[in-house]
Amino acid sequence: MVQVIAVLIVLGLILLVIGWAATNWLPIAVVAAVVLGTWGLVLLIRHIRMTRYFASEEFLAHKVAIASFVAEHNELARYVGEIGSRGTFALGGSVSGAQAHLATFQNTSRHKYRRDRNIAAYQTPYVHNCSLQVVRNASADPIKYVMKYFNIRATETDLAGVENLGDGIVRLEDAITNLGQREASITLSVNPPKFIMKHYAGEFMKHVGVELSQIMVPYPVYMFEYVSAGGNSSQRTTLTLNRETIDAMIQTMSERIKFHKSVAGQRALMTSTLRTMIKERDNYTCRYCSISLAAEPHLLLEVDHIVPVSKGGLTTYVNLQTLCWRCNRTKSNKVIAG
Ligand SMILES: [Zn+2]
Repeated sequence: MVQVIAVLIVLGLILLVIGWAATNWLPIAVVAAVVLGTWGLVLLIRHIRMTRYFASEEFLAHKVAIASFVAEHNELARYVGEIGSRGTFALGGSVSGAQAHLATFQNTSRHKYRRDRNIAAYQTPYVHNCSLQVVRNASADPIKYVMKYFNIRATETDLAGVENLGDGIVRLEDAITNLGQREASITLSVNPPKFIMKHYAGEFMKHVGVELSQIMVPYPVYMFEYVSAGGNSSQRTTLTLNRETIDAMIQTMSERIKFHKSVAGQRALMTSTLRTMIKERDNYTCRYCSISLAAEPHLLLEVDHIVPVSKGGLTTYVNLQTLCWRCNRTKSNKVIAG
């Protein structure tokens, strides 16, 4: 920041010197120097105001008052990191082009400058290279086509895989949303002057002691892509697996499995609707430590399998419970440890 201001002032001075040397340019140089100088001055004054604000007693008092809330926020940010590194966020894959790396492709056409504007992506298992007809059909019936071409079968194992993926995505989404709400609430309780949030939002969080989580939800994205033979045109259908599409996929898979009269059709499906029902049943209260959403407005609640799926636990009403993130974190650390 200080460097930027210094550069602006130096630039202004250089312009003045140039203007002095070449008299024809003097008026332009003076105007430019004045503009740069004014800009530099505005930045400098703002910078001084910012420094004074963060050193002010008012700000420091606020900071002390919300210290424990900030500490909790940072702990949650670390938890978001754990969910991100432990969860499964990939599923299925297309085999189109899986061996493409073994061959060398060259466009030996004399007019290749007109070609290859669209190049098929063979490097990723999440792009299925196909005919135009398949791209269009996939846009009309995305769930069915993703299952078919990315090898997600209507079996109990794959259904459990999709539910597991959904679990990771929903937990991450909820935790990241919760972090955002906490940050908004921290800003509100300190209530800094407007220019601070407008120009120094990042610095504000740093001064308060908030560690911002860089984690995003790694939604799996599936693509059907048609690239014409000459490379002159391409069309694409995309399906992102998020809360909504995962629920639709779970529904579709379960209908097919029930159609085949499997036992998987007997248990409940781990969808958003079920998660909400379990939280409602438990009155938005953690079953371990009894803390409730009513008592702590920013409480992050999660739905947990009492006997984990990895240990044979089923998705049934009796095997599901509401836990606060702290209790769920302790529990899953224990499960991982042994
Ligand atoms: Zn709890």
